Amino acid sequence: MEVTVQKCQICESQNLKNILFRESGEPDRVFVQCHYCNEFVASYVISTMGYYHNGKGFESFLRGINRSGGFMSGRNIKKLFSERKELEAQAFRDVLNQLHLKLEKENERKEDGDSQTKL
Ligand SMILES: [Zn+2]
Repeated sequence: MEVTVQKCQICESQNLKNILFRESGEPDRVFVQCHYCNEFVASYVISTMGYYHNGKGFESFLRGINRSGGFMSGRNIKKLFSERKELEAQAFRDVLNQLHLKLEKENERKEDGDSQTKL
């Protein structure tokens, strides 16, 4: 497992802007721009049903399914939505925990490094 906070490759800022690009018949894309130096950082292609917008509710989820060209019964879609909501929330908590552990380790290493250079 690897957890990384995306950074601008030019100025190392973590202050990034996600620009969502949608065109009918094409998969959705995200372009990442540095908010600090405006540099183009990265782009992602979102897979079918790959996008989850937290807090946006069932209507938005339905629109996502329609854009992906999916056909399902109403009951299945409702079930899919509540499962997805749970999974995404849990996955987000897990990622934040992993990131927290990683940053803690990095800080410990830095402090060790500092104390060694002082000796
Ligand atoms: Zn930058």
